[in-house]
Amino acid sequence: MTQTPLHHFSAAQIRESFVKGEYTAVAIAEYFLKRIEKHNQQLGAFLSILGPRMLLKAEALDRKRAHNKHLGRLAAVPVAIKDNMHIAQEITSCGSKFLHNYRAPFEATAVRLLEEEDALITGKTNLDEFAMGSSNEHSAYFKAHNPWDLNCTPGGSSGGSAAAVSARLSLIATGSDTGGSIRQPAGFCGVVGYKPTYGRVSRYGLVAFGSSLDQIGPFATSVEDIALAMESIGRHCPLDSTSLDLPAESYHLGKNLKDIKIGIPRHFLENLKPEAKAHFEENLQVLRSLGATTVDINLDILKYSIAVYYILATAEAATNLARFDGIRYGIRAKDAKTLDEVYELSRKEGFGREVKKRIMLGTYVLSAGYQDAFYKKAQKVRTLIIDSFDQAFASCDAVAMPVAPSSAFPLQSINDPLEMYLQDIFTIPANLAGLPAISVPSGFDSRQMPLGLQLIGPQMCDVPLIQYAHAFEQATQFTKKIPPLFDGLTS
Ligand code: GLN
Repeated sequence: MTQTPLHHFSAAQIRESFVKGEYTAVAIAEYFLKRIEKHNQQLGAFLSILGPRMLLKAEALDRKRAHNKHLGRLAAVPVAIKDNMHIAQEITSCGSKFLHNYRAPFEATAVRLLEEEDALITGKTNLDEFAMGSSNEHSAYFKAHNPWDLNCTPGGSSGGSAAAVSARLSLIATGSDTGGSIRQPAGFCGVVGYKPTYGRVSRYGLVAFGSSLDQIGPFATSVEDIALAMESIGRHCPLDSTSLDLPAESYHLGKNLKDIKIGIPRHFLENLKPEAKAHFEENLQVLRSLGATTVDINLDILKYSIAVYYILATAEAATNLARFDGIRYGIRAKDAKTLDEVYELSRKEGFGREVKKRIMLGTYVLSAGYQDAFYKKAQKVRTLIIDSFDQAFASCDAVAMPVAPSSAFPLQSINDPLEMYLQDIFTIPANLAGLPAISVPSGFDSRQMPLGLQLIGPQMCDVPLIQYAHAFEQATQFTKKIPPLFDGLTS
């Protein structure tokens, strides 16, 4: 009998086989490191690979097992970290030239919790610079590619994490989601991506983009593994003032959808292209076949989400990025002679075009003459969006929408920035309202590229939302599909 290759295992199965003694942690680490070394050049998923560190941790884990010590929830599971989260003493580049030499002096809480659960950290993944983008094309280093079609984007900004999990170079990865950066790449790469309720996962050690929107969450190859990751990282953290002070939850899966009402914002979804619409209707049929009822809800206000987001997110980004001054972090322009030149030239050299554009936009909407017209108005519309979701959840348990208007687009095919921003139309609302939202693989389009179904829940309802996604996954089984290019039977 041929043995199942390790990259066909889920995270839960890897842990189990390690705990049972079927594999050593070192063997698992070596297997996945080999895969990463073999495929990363083609895929561009990792900016740095932490091989020696990973092997040391694996050796320590094998000793732990030999001494019958407690083994964590993620024991021997290869986990990748988006390169805007700190691993102590390692580079955090944020996909930017600005931080190419910046070594983090401390550990992000999410990373610490993953390590405490005995995960094996594989490396840091590629992203759009400072997480600004929807295609990974704004990485200052190199592009990441979609494992289902290397000519296509893996999505963004967490494209490296999504590609790494989709190609099974790691079984779990972290992402950060400010306007869709976990869910859209998960949808494009055919894996599960989860944005928790705002505050559920600590942002301590995540380089801030839009602080009122940012949320760390996991990518995985199954909903069960998302639950495993959330049990590990969904914890209160006193180092993040917006961290929810609630006990960690346990994610029991296996519920059916009987008596569950799924809200469909029909009118808001009116402009979906025919193929996407037909696909979405098929997904709804699956939910109904599992016992759910679908109800129409009114979320027409969401048509303003993109406008509101690109005011608020850029305002927060311009403020957050003010700290990159050429003095405290990363590069300092060599030609700078005066203090002003240190600021100006370092920022000019260090930041890429998209980041500069957002800093200018954010500075503009916050400037004295325009604050009321843009920033304050956007805050008011944000409140209306929150209220509309509250009203919708009075008549349903979760809202269903596609993850993105289409499947992954070819690299370099979207040159109009507004068209690129429109990619986020279905993901941004959950960030504006702080809601938990999951992207679960829902099939393929006529180009054989993956599509995703998004379910959005009320605040704090992370556990039920993951349960609904699990029921959908069990009925459809699309998470079992591995991109053929990366499914050789050996590492
Ligand atoms: N694509 C969105 C943007 O460009 C969202 C990014 C994110 O979630 N980090 O801002």
